[in-house]
Amino acid sequence: MRHVTSSGSGRFAPSPTSDLHVGNLRTALLAWLFARRAGLGFLVRIEDLDPQRVAAAPGVARRHLVDLASIGLDWDAEPVRQSERWEMYRGALARLDTYPCFCSRRDVAEASQAPHASQGSGWRPYPGTCSRLSSAQRAERALTRPAALRVRANGVRHTVRDAHTGAITGLVDDFVLMRSDGTPSYNLASVVDDGVQGVTQVTRGADLLDSAPRQAWLARQLGFGQPDYVHVGLAVGHSGQRLAKRDGAVTLGQLAATGSDTAAVVAQLFSTAGLPPHGSASGMLADVLAGRVDLERAGIWESWTWPPAGA
Ligand code: GLU
Repeated sequence: MRHVTSSGSGRFAPSPTSDLHVGNLRTALLAWLFARRAGLGFLVRIEDLDPQRVAAAPGVARRHLVDLASIGLDWDAEPVRQSERWEMYRGALARLDTYPCFCSRRDVAEASQAPHASQGSGWRPYPGTCSRLSSAQRAERALTRPAALRVRANGVRHTVRDAHTGAITGLVDDFVLMRSDGTPSYNLASVVDDGVQGVTQVTRGADLLDSAPRQAWLARQLGFGQPDYVHVGLAVGHSGQRLAKRDGAVTLGQLAATGSDTAAVVAQLFSTAGLPPHGSASGMLADVLAGRVDLERAGIWESWTWPPAGA
């Protein structure tokens, strides 16, 4: 394994709730290529924050690592597990301006205004209901309902840079940092980990583009630098919905059972992006480094369909 360079790292951070499907694998390949092209380290992080969902899927984290290695990726440090880092997230939380929130999902939906058109379909910023509670009201509500903790962002707007979309400015609402069951939120844990692990480049699916401004803002609040973002196109099934189990053979294991070995799947994934059909990541990296392939000009930004037409 190479050592993490001082110039930072890229990363791939899957949640081990089900096996990686071809969409996840293509994003992982791209995350590795973008990081290695830039001479950065590369990390894999196991985002196993949700104890129930992870317990319902035993062995998945290990299979993620096996699959990532089998498509030719390598990483520069032992993968960390978020389930072992709760103390660190709590420590970060203590440094932030937060307040308890007693709203149910329904309360939030009813109180929030119309979906925020500029920031993704259906996203509703938290309207700040509980930020205005008196201490007496808080004490009274705490008797009947456990509180989540939200950050006080004061309606700030924050700008990030995405490799494809360019500058994106988004409203930072008072988002949840600690869920009412005491679990650190995805936003808190991933921002803390990216900061602590020296992640300077975040490549992931385009569904998380809308989260980037608030995550980068939180990183700044905690004294971390702001990563560069690379949001790549999501895989969809033939119904046009996000790729899922219902779409048939979508994991390496399922595809092997239908006669497609891993190298063939990887080559097919590269082809879907208009890239040369290498059977593993290293051949593609060589082409990228030699200037024979321009990742930015390939078809990696738009949603893409699996299985590809004619396959
Ligand atoms: N664990 C998240 C997921 O699997 C990814 C988070 C991220 O890349 O920031 O969707």
